[in-house]
Amino acid sequence: MAIATVNPATGETVRTFDALGADDIERCLAEAARAFGSYRTTGFAERTALLGRAADLLEADNEDIARTMTVEMGKPLAAARAEAAKCVKAMRWYADHAEALLGDERPADADVRDSGASAVRTLYRPLGVVLAVMPWNFPLWQVMRFAAPALMAGNVGLLKHASNVPQTAVYLGELFERAGYPRGCFQTLLIGSGAVESVLRDPRVVAATLTGSEPAGRAVASVAGDEVKKTVLELGGSDPFVVMPSADLDKAVKTAVTARVQNNGQSCIAAKRFIVHTDVYDAFAERFAAAMAALRVGDPLQESTEVGPLATEQGRADLEELVEDAVRGGASVLCGGRRPPGQERGWFYEPTVLAGISADMRIDQEETFGPVATLYRVASLDEAVERANHTPFGLSSNVWTRDDAEVERFVRDLEAGGIFFNGMTASHPALPFGGVKRSGYGRELSGHGIREFCNVTTVWQA
Ligand code: NDP
Repeated sequence: MAIATVNPATGETVRTFDALGADDIERCLAEAARAFGSYRTTGFAERTALLGRAADLLEADNEDIARTMTVEMGKPLAAARAEAAKCVKAMRWYADHAEALLGDERPADADVRDSGASAVRTLYRPLGVVLAVMPWNFPLWQVMRFAAPALMAGNVGLLKHASNVPQTAVYLGELFERAGYPRGCFQTLLIGSGAVESVLRDPRVVAATLTGSEPAGRAVASVAGDEVKKTVLELGGSDPFVVMPSADLDKAVKTAVTARVQNNGQSCIAAKRFIVHTDVYDAFAERFAAAMAALRVGDPLQESTEVGPLATEQGRADLEELVEDAVRGGASVLCGGRRPPGQERGWFYEPTVLAGISADMRIDQEETFGPVATLYRVASLDEAVERANHTPFGLSSNVWTRDDAEVERFVRDLEAGGIFFNGMTASHPALPFGGVKRSGYGRELSGHGIREFCNVTTVWQA
């Protein structure tokens, strides 16, 4: 895949970039290793000041970087602005909280007395140079939720961003430089995915984090496994959105639409499978399909646009294939199911709702990365739980119910890294984020996220 900005709303190539050569990559690796040698000894006050300055710069750049993201991957401008603002919030959160999250732990004397120690501490020391392989769907946020905690922990970062968001990638490297970070603390490597293996095998790189597809995660994790290097993987999701009879249907329908089409439907934590109790199924299906059909699809730079194009031509082709396969298998199209008529340019697809999904359709088990929802009718709580778990993924989940006993049952049985009741899944700096099953492993954000790339060190003194 060429490293280039191709505007998904028009299909036009805006800018192309040359991939780094072997000598450039070597220079970046050497700089990263050198930077870690001194940056690891900085104190929290210095790290907090640096990240705070980067946050201020990003805040000031909001409009410009939002436009860049929209041109590179097609998200509506308002969503791009919100993404940049969310990054600023996470940066400030980690700047404020890292020291407390990584404070030395001292077990109570009584618990370790029999070990013969006079003093025992557990420290969170940085690991070293961490490679981040990142996707295009939230081109700032996915990177920042790695970078902010990693830098606060004393690590340094190398970013291999998706090849279709090179301008955002370059911006990120420059942002940390402008904020005053020592040279080499955070660098963008403009490389294709084929160059990732040699970077990851380099002894100066100690760990990797990847957000993206399952095949990409598997490829990076196998190399890391071979090298015995730590990884965190945040892969796909096919989150359930369960609606039980006690749900507030107005709110559930409204939230269902947002939860499905956020980021033009290209979010790992978008709700994708709508599992509705038979008592409210017909009412929900009718209102949900009507609301999806009413969304304004168009140029993401227009303030009124609610759903922009898919980020890549391939992404739209993959989505179309999934829908066509389902329709061939007997699914009914409640709305959408096609490209917007008359829209010649760009990779647009109409918000779509499919019902009558069966086990032999690919869409039943695969992730729909675009504005396509599948509807399932269930007759009981047991069936809702079973259907929600009937997926290879386990990222997050949404449940609409006002029944406390049902809440406890879902909490006990849903196979997912998050369960959101009467609301939609969203990430927050203070809350752990990540999945189980094929959605990956490890956690980002919160104290759990910052400790992923730490050397948890026991210090024992007689
Ligand atoms: P990919 O997973 O292919 O890309 C994500 C990142 O991984 C990019 O930086 C990419 O680089 C890199 N990459 C891809 N393959 C390898 C490899 N073998 N070794 C090392 N690095 C690799 O996402 P796509 O853009 O192809 O999207 C395909 C599907 O992935 C989507 O339809 C969706 O299901 C899922 N996805 C999930 C995301 C999430 O948030 N969990 C985000 C994006 C996609 P390059 O761009 O150079 O190929």
